Amino acid sequence: MLKISNLHKEYPGGDLALRGVNLELKKGEITAVIGPSGAGKSTLIRCVNRLVEATEGEIILQDQDINKLNKKELKNKRRKMGMIFQEYALVERLTVMENVLSGRLGYVSFWRAWLRKFPQKDINQAYQLLERLGLQEHINKRSDHLSGGQRQRVGIARALIQDPDLLLVDEPTASLDPKTARQIMRLITEMAKERNLAALINIHDVLLAREYVSRIIGMRNGEIVFDGSPLELNKDT
Ligand code: ADP
Ligand code: ADP
Repeated sequence: MLKISNLHKEYPGGDLALRGVNLELKKGEITAVIGPSGAGKSTLIRCVNRLVEATEGEIILQDQDINKLNKKELKNKRRKMGMIFQEYALVERLTVMENVLSGRLGYVSFWRAWLRKFPQKDINQAYQLLERLGLQEHINKRSDHLSGGQRQRVGIARALIQDPDLLLVDEPTASLDPKTARQIMRLITEMAKERNLAALINIHDVLLAREYVSRIIGMRNGEIVFDGSPLELNKDT
């Protein structure tokens, strides 16, 4: 469902962040990207949703080359990609429920509905997700009144309510304590599995990656240097 071929990224200034990355992801394949700081992990994930423009190469997501989409096509495509970030990227002044609904409705429709009324079926769906994530008691709290772990769970709900084909996850646990990090990694991988999603999870914690994913990609200097199961990684290191 995702096929990346010969992907290069050179940042203005000459940093070569990606030097010919090839990667295929099947439906239901939950993959962690590991590697030292500066290896190109974030750049890879950001090229897929085009927060960063690749210099060369193809990113085919369900038969369409991401790099060739116009603005409107890209917007539609991004609605099929759930994104989860290290710093949550929630709207602080909005409630938990409102943040999740913003993932469902998109920016313009969200504010239009916010002024009047949200569709009941979207509210029901958001409620179900929030309940599954253990946030039912926090639904009407402002998101800036939550702990880090709770905020990230709101981030997960906001990504999943889009009903995405692909989950892009950039350092989801980097701002969290070890116990919360483990809980978040477990929730992301469990819920991706339940929905048969492909997921690309950029994570620097190798132990967490090993524990929760079936496939690990190792990056160094903008290249993939390992691609295998957690067991194979144990043999190599
Ligand atoms: P990782 O996520 O593995 O830490 P990154 O993708 O963030 O790696 O970075 C890869 C390389 O690209 C590094 O050398 C980094 O300095 C460089 N880089 C990342 N973002 C930018 C940017 N916005 N401008 C210039 N260089 C960048
Ligand atoms: P979690 O269950 O996500 O691990 P914590 O144990 O960190 O949550 O937090 C416990 C309680 O403290 C939560 O109910 C949360 O609402 C509250 N809390 C944590 N951090 C903050 C904060 N920065 N502002 C307001 N309340 C907070």
